[in-house]
This record gives sequence, C-alpha cells and structure tokens, in this order.
Amino acid sequence: MTAVHVPGAPVIEDGRLVSTSPASGAEVGRLPVATPEDVGRAVDRARRAGEWWAGLGFAGRRQRLLRWRALLARRIEELADLVHAEGGKPVADAVVEIVTAVEHVDWAARNARRVLGPRRVRSRLVLAEFSAHLEYQPHGVVGVIGPWNYPVFTPIGSVAYALAAGNAVVFKPSEYTPAVGQWLVDTFAEVVPEQPVFTAVHGLGDVGAALCRSGVGKVAFTGSSATARKVMAACAESLTPVLLEAGGKDAMIVDADADLDAAAEACVWGALTNAGQTCIGIERVYAVEPVFDAFVGKVVERAGRLTVGPDDADIGPITMPSQLDVIRRHIDDALARGGRAVLGGADAVQPPYVRPTVLVDVPEDSIAVREETFGPTLTVNRVRDVDEAVARANALSYGLGGSVFGRRRAVAIARRLRSGMASVNSTLTFAGMSTLPFGGVGDSGFGRIHGEDGLREFSRAKAITRRRARSLLASTTFERTAADVARLVKAIKTMYGR
Ligand code: NAD
Repeated sequence: MTAVHVPGAPVIEDGRLVSTSPASGAEVGRLPVATPEDVGRAVDRARRAGEWWAGLGFAGRRQRLLRWRALLARRIEELADLVHAEGGKPVADAVVEIVTAVEHVDWAARNARRVLGPRRVRSRLVLAEFSAHLEYQPHGVVGVIGPWNYPVFTPIGSVAYALAAGNAVVFKPSEYTPAVGQWLVDTFAEVVPEQPVFTAVHGLGDVGAALCRSGVGKVAFTGSSATARKVMAACAESLTPVLLEAGGKDAMIVDADADLDAAAEACVWGALTNAGQTCIGIERVYAVEPVFDAFVGKVVERAGRLTVGPDDADIGPITMPSQLDVIRRHIDDALARGGRAVLGGADAVQPPYVRPTVLVDVPEDSIAVREETFGPTLTVNRVRDVDEAVARANALSYGLGGSVFGRRRAVAIARRLRSGMASVNSTLTFAGMSTLPFGGVGDSGFGRIHGEDGLREFSRAKAITRRRARSLLASTTFERTAADVARLVKAIKTMYGR
C-alpha cells in the first residue's frame, strides 16, 4: 500500500521510515524504524565496540578518523547531492556544509591526544608530597540526536568529537534526513569495518526518547528548545548527562561606522542561506539610526536578486512542510502590528517555497521578533545607539550566536551580547572555526561542541594523585598529633592569612 505523501514529510510504511524530497516528493530513502528493543541492542553492541575503539588509543583512532575525513572529502559531490535531494538545500550550500564538517573531523582527530591525553599537572605547596595526574576518559557510548537542517555538519559536530575522545556513538538522525544519517554511518563502517563503533537508529521522536533512556553514557542533542526540555527530562530519570544545542533567534547589530556593503552582503547570507533554516541564522537586525535607511536599501537590493526554486536556485524549499504555517504567521503578525515589508511579505509563502522577506519597524513584542521563524525572512529595526541595540538583542531567552558590524567598538559590542558565540564583520563564521567552542546560553541550551571544550564535553575528567614523599605536615591521618595540627594552622596563616 502506498500512502499519499506531503512532499518532504516523513511517513512510516510497513515498519520503514520513508523520506522524500521537499521539492518534488520523490522518495529518497527507506530505513527500518527501530523499536525500543532495537535501540537497547544497538547500545549494547556499541558498548562492546566502544571498548575496542577506546583500546585503539589516540593514535589508532586518529588514523581511522583521518581515513573517514579523506573519504568524506573525496565523495563530497555524492554526499552533497544526497543532502540536496533529501533536505532540499541547494547543492552549493550542501558543499559548504560538508566542507565545514570535514574540517571538524580533521581537527578533532588531530587534537584529541593533546587535549585529553594523560598529563602531569602541578602540585601546590599544601600536598606538595603528592604528584597530580589528569586525563580525560570516554563515557563509553554517546547517543547523538540530530536535526534535519544541517544533517552533516550538526551531527558531525558531536560525532567526530565523541569518537576522537574514544566513545562509540549511536546516532538518531532526524526523521526528515535519515538517508543522510545512514550514509554517514555506512561510510564510517567502510573505513572502520571491524566493529559497530558508529551506528544509527531511525524513527520519530519516540526513538530519540528511547535512546535517552537506553543507558548511554551521555546524550548530545541538537534540535528545538521544546524537544531539548523533553530530552533533559528523560535523561534526568537516570542522571544521564546531556549536551543541548537548541534553537536561536540571533541578532546582528550594525553600528554607525560599519562598512554597509559588507554588512548587507553578510546579512543576506546569514539570514537567507539554507532558506533561513539555520539555528545560528540572523533573524533580527538592529541598525543605528544614521545608517538604517542605507543599510536596508542595500539588503533589499541584494536579497531581491536571489532566485527561489528547486535546483540551481539560491533559495530552496522549506524542508519541514509544517514550518510554512509558522513562517506565514510570523509575517502576518508583523504586518498586522504595523511592521512594513520592504521585500516579500504577505504572499511570500508559496509552498514549498518562501520568497525572501525583509520586514522593517516591526514591534519588538511581535512573534516575528521573539520566536524562531526558521524561514528566509528577516526583521530590521532602527535603534538610537548601540546600547539600545545590545539591550534589544539580549532581550530574549535565546542566546546562541550573533553578529556585529562596525569598526571602533565592534569587538566590545560582541562581548556584550548574551550569546555563546559572535562574528565580527561576518556572519556564522564561528561555526567553521574548529578551534572554537560552539554552543549557547539560556533557551539555546548548554554545553559545547567543537574545539577543546568540545572534546572535553565527550569525556570525563579523571584525577589521580600519587604519593611521592612522606608528609611533613601530617593532616589526613588519625596518626596526626596536636603539634601537627598547630603547625598546620601556623603554615596556613603564614601562606594565606595576609
Ligand atoms: P526537533 O527538536 O523537532 O527534532 C530534533 C531531533 O529530536 C529529531 O531527531 C527528533 O526526531 C528528535 N526528537 C523529537 N522528540 C524527541 C523526544 N521526545 N526525545 C528525544 N528525541 C526527540 O528539531 P528539528 O526540527 O529537527 O531541528 C530544528 C531545530 O534545531 C531548530 O530549533 C534549530 O534552531 C535547532 N538547531 C540547533 C542547532 C544548534 O547547534 N544549537 C543546530 C541545528 C539546529
């Protein structure tokens, strides 16, 4: 029996998850749906595989991860075509996404030993008779739950770092992009055929929930803030630690001394790439009064040139059909409350596409300003000065990334943004910098992927002290005397009492 498909919406047929192109409705993948027992078995298998993987040591894992990196680089066109077919994004956007992911695999593989490997750390004068040793050990199995909007970059931000740290990974890809998820797992198995170190379980949210309850050592979740709350609640039952990379409503601030052409170019890219379906996408702009009109003009001119359509267009379809209503509601609400559309607007939503839309003078309490739109739309509001811009940017409970355009004060403004990341005179670039941590604050989640913090996120600190001499000031023993304690009091007053 063949069900009627809404293009792009996943359906389950005969125990299989069927994914389709949001542009054409053509079938792209058919993957078995995991039962809770399947999830449990996958985690058990991964636990054994993880012991083997951890036993390879940093050098063995590095060598294998670099082989996977090379495969990803060699087969970039094949993967980009699949990402395009399943999620709808233009092939060029898919290529950029994969390039960034490859960079992260390379960095994680090359730096895991330096960041996580055993080392001596300094002892202090108190307890100077002990040496101190630190290392970071894997959790065993990490459960990774992913979204559809960047189906390669986003999971790899957790998977590559978790693997480099010595964990096995069980991955629950989004139900909108299971074929891309399976492709990642299959290609990893080509370079690491010995053990199921990186495997996938497919299905809807209940499969993700089963993974949270499966006894994994840690869950790394990327998705909406609403689901993040459910993931944390499920993990709380067994005190399973979680990393939450959730939604955002990132702001860009344009100061009076900004290069307006560069700002407009970066803004249009940061807001509209991947049809605006980007967690760190620019959704709000605050431009200071003196440059507001000129900036808006440049944004409209550039965004108005973008093409919308299925294949070689700049803007592809909206991946999740249900999001079209959200985008329409946000535009309608902004207009009903007195905002103006200087590009696109009321009739911009033409399923499965949305034409680029720029809204100005939108009330700050409208949903287009306060909630994640996840479409190729943008609000641009004028502010008196950068203090007002920062206050408005920081007014929401989200705090993922952000951008500042300006010269003299730009870095200082970036520091004041209540966010985990910011780009100065560019947009989104922190995501591709594998040496920098990625993550948010508030409703955007907590914990960090990427960089040294990202490697530590997938391991636990193990501290070891070792006696190297007899204690001169006996304190941690019942053998101590009153004189020992008196000497201790005197020593601490001498050292710290001034
Ligand atoms: P989503 O929350 O709907 O789904 C994410 C994943 O969670 C999917 O695999 C889904 O099947 C699974 N899931 C659903 N219910 C679950 C449950 N109860 N328990 C466990 N897992 C469950 O999000 P989405 O629509 O796939 O992705 C878009 C969202 O992701 C946006 O809000 C976007 O901002 C966010 N996102 C954040 C980042 C980041 O790094 N912060 C990156 C990309 C996307």
